[in-house]
Amino acid sequence: MESADIPFSIIAETFESLERVTARTQLTVILVKLFKRTPPSVIDKVVYLIQGKLGPDWKEIPELGVGEKLLITAIAMAYKVPESKVESLYKSLGDLGSVAERLAREAEARKKSKKGAGLLAFMGGGEEELTVSKVFNTLYRVATAQGEGSRELKIKLVSGLLSDAKPLEAKYIVRFIQGKLRLGVGDATILDALAVAFGGSAQARSIIERAYNLQADLGTIARIVVEHGVDALKDVKPKVGVPIRPMLAERHNDPVEILRKVGGKGLVEYKYDGERGQIHKDGDRIYIFSRRLENITHMYPDVVDMARRGIKAEKAIVEGEIVAIDPDTMELKPFQELMKRKRKHQIHKAMREVPVAVFLFDALYVDGEDLTLKPLPERRKRLESIIIPSETWSIATNIVTSDPDELYKFFLKAIEEGAEGVMVKAIHEKSIYQAGARGWLWIKFKRDYKSEMIDTVDLVAVGGFYGRGRRGGKIGTLLMAAYDPDTDTFKTVCKVGSGFTDEDLDRMEEIFKPYIIPHKHPRVDSAIEADVWFVPAKVAEIIGAELTLSPMHTCCLGAVRPGAGISIRFPRFIRWRDDKKPEDATTTKELLEMYRRQLRKIEEQA
Ligand code: ATP
Repeated sequence: MESADIPFSIIAETFESLERVTARTQLTVILVKLFKRTPPSVIDKVVYLIQGKLGPDWKEIPELGVGEKLLITAIAMAYKVPESKVESLYKSLGDLGSVAERLAREAEARKKSKKGAGLLAFMGGGEEELTVSKVFNTLYRVATAQGEGSRELKIKLVSGLLSDAKPLEAKYIVRFIQGKLRLGVGDATILDALAVAFGGSAQARSIIERAYNLQADLGTIARIVVEHGVDALKDVKPKVGVPIRPMLAERHNDPVEILRKVGGKGLVEYKYDGERGQIHKDGDRIYIFSRRLENITHMYPDVVDMARRGIKAEKAIVEGEIVAIDPDTMELKPFQELMKRKRKHQIHKAMREVPVAVFLFDALYVDGEDLTLKPLPERRKRLESIIIPSETWSIATNIVTSDPDELYKFFLKAIEEGAEGVMVKAIHEKSIYQAGARGWLWIKFKRDYKSEMIDTVDLVAVGGFYGRGRRGGKIGTLLMAAYDPDTDTFKTVCKVGSGFTDEDLDRMEEIFKPYIIPHKHPRVDSAIEADVWFVPAKVAEIIGAELTLSPMHTCCLGAVRPGAGISIRFPRFIRWRDDKKPEDATTTKELLEMYRRQLRKIEEQA
């Protein structure tokens, strides 16, 4: 082992300890201990191993390509047992990592009894001790083994690694390969641990985090900290080819409040409904990174071309939204259109079928200059100065305003032209680019919140339907009703099955258990047969695309048209309104008024 390495056994033991705790503070303590004993030259590898990766996602290191079957073969080969034994152990233990651990232990015992304890001690264990570099580099070779003979090579490399591994090491090597480390360590905990281990000051955490936000590669950041100290990170600048963590927006839907929050006056831009692209230019070389910092360059050869021609600077990092368009009319198309391109494999064909345009909204770096700490107006000026616009490569449509009415009119215009709403951005002196953070310097004001159906409604859950597939057997959809004070009954309006988070769905049984009854409640007026009926008790806030007429629902039945009630198109759950009694729900009369208002609006627009 070179002195600048660390035994892999230390990593395996650390993983074992990490698995046993869940509190972030405890995880941090364990990591600090590990980091402090890790030599600088391998700290990056240690960080990646903890993340369960061989590098940051955007580096596009190939998948390990070792499926369960291949892994079973490699384990059998390493411990010289038949595959059937590995499989049956797998069945009983339920985890291949534990299988490898068990077999490694048995192999160790066999070896000991053969050689005799004395001889083994004399030979110092008799095996080559695995180091972090050895494990990491071998796994890297496994990942990059491609083409003919790669299957055999992968098996050979993995089984070689396992036969050198101690039992605990084997367990975690196998889990790593399977992508099942589950240590519960997020990026934030790694940042905490680096700050404690090498920080030395209270500001260390924020300095390290800022550097990470500018260069989204924790391994590299860790290495700089360990080799040169936290202060060296102050010099970290955006680097072309390494993604910057994106700035995110808060949401709001009141123009007056939005303008107040950005300081009275803001830059208001169309909020395009496409995919965010962080576009890096390094001479002729272009990289595009997604919102989640994946390298998506290969999906957009047309955007690569636009960027190559459309950016005057030699080196630059700009951001924009990539949107599907109709090339004849230049009309914007919805996100679903763009998804069609992403699903296709033949990229050049997809490019012709789903043409795109790019609407640029920020410049983060230009020819050596880090712009992220400059106020937005200055960044925009830089952006405009380096862009050569074309039909499909332009700055996002915008206005600057301090007038809420003007903002609202612009919002309506944005929607009319196919945008999702607007982004309102602060333009005061402190309007920096907050990489990796969500804040009130950017506020999204989306169509959802001001759809045709301007107000949300509060409806009562009167029945439920069981889900299918993954959610089979569990309540996944609710039958919702409005209150009719004249008859003191609840009349159905819609079935709502979207808008619930996984947590909402998981809690559904628990929430409704006290209210389940074997038949429709006497105060419920429904033409639909639910799978399960409830006492009207739980009120939920619901939004939809618009109000419609439906023969299935009893709310205001016949009031607008014979045989039809009022319903909601594309209803979505927003939240429970436990502060409301069922009788406080939106009334059928209110819904009728809302429907009439909607009709008038449509007529006015026509
Ligand atoms: P978030 O990204 O805020 O977590 P999300 O993924 O649901 O939420 P949205 O709520 O649609 O995304 O809003 C943010 C996204 O809007 C940005 O990440 C960007 O892709 C897109 N966007 C469109 N137009 C603009 C614009 N003019 N300025 C900034 N972002 C824009």
